[in-house]
Amino acid sequence: MEIRVRFAPSPTGPLHIGGARSALFNYLWARKNKGTFIVRSEDTDLERSSRESEQNILESLRWLNIQWDEGIEVGGEYGPYRQTDRLALYRNYTDQLLNSGHAYYCYCTEEELEQERQALIATGETPRYLGKCRQLTPEQQAVFVAAGRKPVVRFRVPEGQAIHINDQVRGDVVFESDGIGDYVIVKSDGIPTYNFAVVIDDTTMNITHVIRGEEHLSNTPRQVLIYQALGLAVPEFAHISLILNTEGGKMSKRDGDTAVMDYQQKGYLPEAIVNFIALLGWAPSGEEEFYTLDELSDVFSLDRVSKSPAVFDIQKLNYINAHYIKEASAERLAELALPYVEEMGILPRGERSAEQQQWLISFIEAISEKIAYLAEVKDYIHYFHGEVPLEAEGEAREVLRGEQVPAVLALFEEKIREAELLSGATVKILLKQMTKELKLGGKFVYMPVRVALTGQMHGPELYDIIPLLGRENVLKRLKVTERRYLG
Ligand code: GLU
Repeated sequence: MEIRVRFAPSPTGPLHIGGARSALFNYLWARKNKGTFIVRSEDTDLERSSRESEQNILESLRWLNIQWDEGIEVGGEYGPYRQTDRLALYRNYTDQLLNSGHAYYCYCTEEELEQERQALIATGETPRYLGKCRQLTPEQQAVFVAAGRKPVVRFRVPEGQAIHINDQVRGDVVFESDGIGDYVIVKSDGIPTYNFAVVIDDTTMNITHVIRGEEHLSNTPRQVLIYQALGLAVPEFAHISLILNTEGGKMSKRDGDTAVMDYQQKGYLPEAIVNFIALLGWAPSGEEEFYTLDELSDVFSLDRVSKSPAVFDIQKLNYINAHYIKEASAERLAELALPYVEEMGILPRGERSAEQQQWLISFIEAISEKIAYLAEVKDYIHYFHGEVPLEAEGEAREVLRGEQVPAVLALFEEKIREAELLSGATVKILLKQMTKELKLGGKFVYMPVRVALTGQMHGPELYDIIPLLGRENVLKRLKVTERRYLG
């Protein structure tokens, strides 16, 4: 049997990490089984859904390289792939359920429902619909209709039934039908609810596996009852665990970025995000922690998806991203770093000279081992660009008080002026010569030079900093330091 899986987001906001993980697991399951991965849109919440959110979701998936075989924008023989374009289809199934007595019209008003709710809460019972409109006669219905009431359609939940869900992650999960209460499947405006529309979509699209977040587990019995009422086969379910923050709470904006595109904007690499989210709830069998999308497609399996919550640890993501940054070419990184460099006004927007491009590449090469994501290039620019170093403070300021410092800086200035070409190699030689000529240990030479040029005790290699700063800026920075501290 062909494996068919789907990602069915509600386009009510940007794609978040949790949604991306659901999409990824479905994608991987399809690839692994040479099946089909579908992306469709659950846009029946008319107020909160927008095409803008839908675009963000699709763009995020494309950025992550999670491609779908069928669905929105791609098409396919089971379309349309937006729920609002499928209303007639739901109508057919609603009629079937009404005709077979599995569903009925309910005319209760909001106030009546609220009263019922409060009464149940007062007696300590689970609030649920008690079935007031279950047995309305056609005459009673006519009275409501004449009064202008618009009905909803409710599903008639059978009494005393144990609903078994054979979940691929959680095993046999049992729900009692008695706690459920007849639920709305079509709202008074004729729009189906999620639990109903999702079943019709999954069945008409021949979905074999429903892989989604644990938050939907409690919806599943409601969906299973609809399959049963329509005499349809139930797909396999796999509910993947929640993603928690490192404190064990629900992930929220406070824990940093939750939208996928926020990570793009910070300069994370898509392959790192994919690798990271794959490990949120799925564990490989060996020690290896780095996986490309293709490798994941080979090794992914539902039986290694964990029941316990996954923890979103930004340190881990940074570690993984740093790994992929080290693997990426300087050209690619330069391209990705460009927006931050431009934003700081270091390079012009648009066209760059060959020299500027070379500067950018060398800059990236000098720091690519130090950064976790590309927006961090902004923290390093001051080492490599501009005429004025940062202020030397604390220990760094102390360094410049050493008695050898004036001689060191004077000789350094002379060597910089004399050097024909400032490259990493010539700078290395030049610094070495200085220690010999001054008969000083390396530290007594390198540290004052470093502080004089950058104001800092630590940072990228001097033989990277000096050529990138260029002779002019090096000399100007020395002047500033002399004026500030040695005058
Ligand atoms: N629209 C649902 C959501 O965004 C998807 C539910 C499902 O996959 O069945 O959470």
